[in-house]
Amino acid sequence: MVVFECAGCGAALTVALTQVDRPDHEHDEWANSTDFTPPLLPDGTYAAQGDFLVAPGDTRGLTWIPGRYDGDCCGVTGHSGPNLACACGRPVATRVDDCSRWQVVRFAPGAVRAVGEPDPVRPWESVDWDESAGDDWWVRRLEIAAGVAVARVLHAVEGAPVTVPDGPLAEVFRRSFDARRSPGEPRTLGLAGPGVVGEADVLLVPRHPQTGEAWPVAGTSVPIPAELWVLLARPARVIVPKTGGRWAAHLRDVPEPPRPADVEPASCAIRRESAWMSRSRS
Ligand SMILES: [Zn+2]
Repeated sequence: MVVFECAGCGAALTVALTQVDRPDHEHDEWANSTDFTPPLLPDGTYAAQGDFLVAPGDTRGLTWIPGRYDGDCCGVTGHSGPNLACACGRPVATRVDDCSRWQVVRFAPGAVRAVGEPDPVRPWESVDWDESAGDDWWVRRLEIAAGVAVARVLHAVEGAPVTVPDGPLAEVFRRSFDARRSPGEPRTLGLAGPGVVGEADVLLVPRHPQTGEAWPVAGTSVPIPAELWVLLARPARVIVPKTGGRWAAHLRDVPEPPRPADVEPASCAIRRESAWMSRSRS
């Protein structure tokens, strides 16, 4: 595990953390609701890619920067840049916790350094495919991840029609691709990963749940979160909330829907993927 320290004074700014794949729903904004959107990452974890993301509850020794409290209604959005400082005075991070946003503290690149021994990377064959299943936000996360996958596949095929095979892939993606049929040579969508040898023009492959590394394949692939991939690759899997169905508030959702359906391309991905996709929607 690693602790993130201030690059200026060396103060510990987090508890000890384990790396996880950077979530696709990072840039999603959930509808304004009475329930606060939860932390982006599970307790005790961080995600990397230039900057470092952690759950707000896992930070230590940070103070608000006066005047940087900009937000939309119930919390802060960090629109004006870093809003958290180390005790030494250096602006180091941006906290986002407004109700419609996934709560996160984002350490700026170069503001912190990781110290300690990173956890060993589990080989693919010992990945625990069930470890993230069953929490209250599971369906929402997977809807977003599937929507991001649609946007990335459309980008990969440059707008060509996408043919989706029967089975779980069709359940999640076919309606979305059929609704966007355009002229051109159809491209096939498939699945590849541990134990699955796929043959298609575009393959959905899992990202390693710790490192985010994509399952290696030849040809065109679109990496997706492991928790989405396993739903597509293992159709018999049934998700039951970790409460075991004991609490009345959760009974309506037991069992969880087996997988998201009627997925729309995720707007948070479209903004980042390509300009032509934005144009093709208008
Ligand atoms: Zn410092």
